[in-house]
Amino acid sequence: GCVIGVFTSGGDSQGMNAATRAIVRMGIYVGCKVYLIKEGYQGMVDGGSNIVLADWKSVSNIIQSGGTIIGSARCADFRERPGRLQAAYNLLERGITNLVCIGGDGSLTGANLFRIEWSSLLEELVKTGRITSQKAQECAHLNVVGLVGSIDNDFCGTDMTIGTDSALHRIIEAIDNINTTASSHQRCFVMEVMGRHCGYLALVAALASEADWVFIPESPPEKGWEDKLCEKLAQERSLGQRLNIIIVSEGAIDEEGRPITADQIKDLISKRLKYDTRVTILGHVQRGGNPSAFDRLLGCRMGAEAVLALMEATPFTPACVISLNGNQIVRVPLMECVARTKEVQAAMDKKEFQKAVELRGRDFVA
Ligand code: ADP
Repeated sequence: GCVIGVFTSGGDSQGMNAATRAIVRMGIYVGCKVYLIKEGYQGMVDGGSNIVLADWKSVSNIIQSGGTIIGSARCADFRERPGRLQAAYNLLERGITNLVCIGGDGSLTGANLFRIEWSSLLEELVKTGRITSQKAQECAHLNVVGLVGSIDNDFCGTDMTIGTDSALHRIIEAIDNINTTASSHQRCFVMEVMGRHCGYLALVAALASEADWVFIPESPPEKGWEDKLCEKLAQERSLGQRLNIIIVSEGAIDEEGRPITADQIKDLISKRLKYDTRVTILGHVQRGGNPSAFDRLLGCRMGAEAVLALMEATPFTPACVISLNGNQIVRVPLMECVARTKEVQAAMDKKEFQKAVELRGRDFVA
């Protein structure tokens, strides 16, 4: 079996623990050694007690917890070659030549660069006498597999990212809770949800909660939207609806590309319609709580596949991402996904929304 290191990096999300657990247990099951690397790339650079050999029990009782028990971090050191050189040394000390990176596109990009740079890092370590040339030969290739952990579902190449479904559960719970109080008082609620430049969470939450209106970055409202919104709300009230729910994605913009904020909508409605209007910004609640059954299974399936992908890797296999395609867990080239994700961001920046949605593909079709 091979020697695997697993780490979580960047923003955390629910279901990362399920993935870590599956990697450890599948790894042990097929005869690999699996190390847990704590605090993302920082732990890899710092080494020592940040890199620990896992056994079957190390990952007991974590499938149900949110966040990531092995810690996650942003790490400036890893962006520079000296940091990566030290990280390589720490991995080599333990014979780790296989990595599973659970993170977003930044973390996966870093892992891929590390893989490409690996042989030159080995060369430098041999030259400076820190490792033997025999060690360098034994550990000549670094295999990399990525798993996407993110609540935003903003990564191209997988239909769902680990954590999105749980975040939707948090949002829907919050809307349902607000519903009961809002309808007692005939209120209007404006709720801001996360997603950065991606409106997936807002759109799906709106569909699932019978919201009256949703603002997402991919589809800015047409000029004159203020009138249309107020007309729609007034119409709902005249039909006897006792409350209104409006969902705003945190990246929402108007027809001129200016941000649309929950406060701005509240002001509009309370001025024009005189409705009692409240703003709720869900924030980190969306990343919290226990992972849903879907995210636990997604983490398990992706983690197990990651181990198989590493065992089958050759020096010529490019780094891959384990992704969900329809109902199937598949391997897709990491760099293609990262490149397409960057293209989407560029299209969004240029306000080419149709192109962005098409590039993102089926994973965005709600
Ligand atoms: P995410 O993985 O969620 O997109 P970041 O973009 O913050 O989050 O990346 C997390 C970490 O990954 C960074 O703090 C850094 O250590 C590493 N990283 C990101 N991009 C690169 C890169 N181009 N080269 C090397 N390391 C990187």
